[in-house]
Amino acid sequence: MAILLSNDDGVASEGLRALQEKLASLDEVWVVAPDRDQSAVSHSLTLQRPLRIEQVGPRTFAVDGTPTDCVNLAINGILRERPRLVISGINRGANLGDDITYSGTVSAAMEATLLGVPGIAVSLVGTEQFDFAAAADFTNRLATRLLRDSLPPDTLLNVNVPPLPAAAIKGFALTRQGKRRYGDAIVEKVDPRGKKYYWIGGGPLDFVDAEGTDFNAVHRDLISITPLHLDLTNYRSLEELQHLKV
Ligand code: MN
Repeated sequence: MAILLSNDDGVASEGLRALQEKLASLDEVWVVAPDRDQSAVSHSLTLQRPLRIEQVGPRTFAVDGTPTDCVNLAINGILRERPRLVISGINRGANLGDDITYSGTVSAAMEATLLGVPGIAVSLVGTEQFDFAAAADFTNRLATRLLRDSLPPDTLLNVNVPPLPAAAIKGFALTRQGKRRYGDAIVEKVDPRGKKYYWIGGGPLDFVDAEGTDFNAVHRDLISITPLHLDLTNYRSLEELQHLKV
């Protein structure tokens, strides 16, 4: 039995290496991750071309595909037996609120959950400077606990760590998914040939700072842990829509 690590920032990313080193004393660690940055690819699966796997280190593999491809290939092929736990991260940057629908980091943990293996996604909030030490340390402690107690069925954990040294982090909070404020400017520029081009996501991240949310916890220097499930049904609407006549 082993722990599988993946991510969406690529196999060479610093956050992944921090986790690999930290967890080495906990269990046998396998890494199957994209060969390049695949951030914001969501839960996409590559079906239109063959995938290549390259071993780049001991129990470390690079795949020319998405995070979902990696977890799928790892569990169904590369690993000799099913892992006990899949950890995706540590991502460079937050995965909070509505943004998790874009997240390759969270999707790798989703894929594990779909395949019946407990999964957690870990992200370090920030935009430029990243020190993964506190996040790696917390993930190690969380993983230790989950290997003993496991997760409720069909549940994955979305963990976001504030960009602070361990001593300044005030603990953790169980949270719900928050709401993003979409004010993202689209940047329009002109290329050297005089043609317009566009860049999405030029504006700063902004969230509704509501109590109990992932964003609010991080804002209060707490590590946010949001339990997620893959059932996207809106049960409240199901009742409201009983009156629907078509
Ligand atoms: Mn990423």
